[in-house]
Amino acid sequence: MLELLGSVFTNKYSEGYPGRRYYGGQEFTDQIENLARQRACALFRAEHANVQPLSGSPMNQAVYLGLLQPGDTILAMDLSHGGHLTHGAPVSHMGRLFNFARYKTQPSNGGAIDFDELRAMAGHVRPKLVLCGYSSYPRDLDYASFKSIADEVGALTMADVSHYGGLIAGNALRNPLDAGFDVMTTTSHKTLRGPRGGIVLCRREFAGKIDASVFPGLQGGPHMNVVAGTAVTLKKASTPDFHAYARLVMRNAKVLAEALMERGMTLITGGTDNHMMVVDTVASVGLDGGAAENILDAVGITANKQIIPDDPRPPLKPSGIRLGTPAATTRGMGEPEMRLIAEFIAESLRSKGDAAVVKRLRSNSVEMCLRFPRSGDRAALIGGRPAFRSSRHSAGREGSRGKDRNGN
Ligand SMILES: *Cc1c(COP(=O)(O)O)cnc(C)c1O
Repeated sequence: MLELLGSVFTNKYSEGYPGRRYYGGQEFTDQIENLARQRACALFRAEHANVQPLSGSPMNQAVYLGLLQPGDTILAMDLSHGGHLTHGAPVSHMGRLFNFARYKTQPSNGGAIDFDELRAMAGHVRPKLVLCGYSSYPRDLDYASFKSIADEVGALTMADVSHYGGLIAGNALRNPLDAGFDVMTTTSHKTLRGPRGGIVLCRREFAGKIDASVFPGLQGGPHMNVVAGTAVTLKKASTPDFHAYARLVMRNAKVLAEALMERGMTLITGGTDNHMMVVDTVASVGLDGGAAENILDAVGITANKQIIPDDPRPPLKPSGIRLGTPAATTRGMGEPEMRLIAEFIAESLRSKGDAAVVKRLRSNSVEMCLRFPRSGDRAALIGGRPAFRSSRHSAGREGSRGKDRNGN
């Protein structure tokens, strides 16, 4: 995949779609794009796929602009409850162009979506589109309930599975298209582990509108080097190895969540059913998410500050952090490492960043990471030392070069 990103397709213009391009010399780009589209449809059980969106945000914009009129109402998940910026955050252009009404989760119900409230809202605001999908919600979604509410008010249905498209591909989470959704969008670079891009999947009747909206509506020439990498990614995502990976990501998340809670950490919704979790650091240790992020950085753990549902605190000093297991799982980490990571996190945060504690835990976390090198990244330095000085890979330093742990 990395080879394709740096291939000659980086330089080739191919505005249009296979068989209908505005440039010559498309013999191979047409094959690549058709392959990516066919693989995307097969993998996600979709009738049509557009693989040209340059990333997740333009992908969602293309759907709104292609299927709706400016000013139309979209029902979407509130940002602090797990939704994405492109789901109508007031700071986003889409938030100004469309009329977003935002629904929430219900803390009293384990953080589930309150479908009674959603049904009442839908009856009141009469949306043209019911949108679901999340960036920071640690549970799976009941797509059939979204679909029946949308049907009651004659709205289209769209699921943005950007964060967990790989887990759907790996049959580890529900597929909204199986529940009859009209549109599903996903990035190619999060749990799908591909190059950075976006994929729109939809029912055949929307194919023309979606394609015209992506190009020429919103974008110019597609990044064919990325589309080629996406085609490889989609093939890998259909293998038993990838299905096993998806299950392991979720198993690791469960283990990490439980180990954190055993160490007194408070998790939003009390756990996880997917690949991520949100820790309420204020409730757990009296630290805001920004401070927690900095302490974890010092320990060698990369996490991000995260707003929690109806967070009273500002976005740069929110109440929590968000953790996920896909990257660590890709490196080959399993249950013992999840327990260690929980210990590093809980101990360092509880110490409020005490220098001696951080120094000790950093050395432990670097030691652990060196046992699970990021293959394909031979020059990377972890803790000031080459990542590849690990006995696990010592025999294969050159021999394993062509493939990293992604197989990419
Ligand atoms: C990441 C994400 C996006 C946007 O993707 P970018 O590639 O960062 O533009 C859109 N929707 C959801 C739910 C996401 O998690």
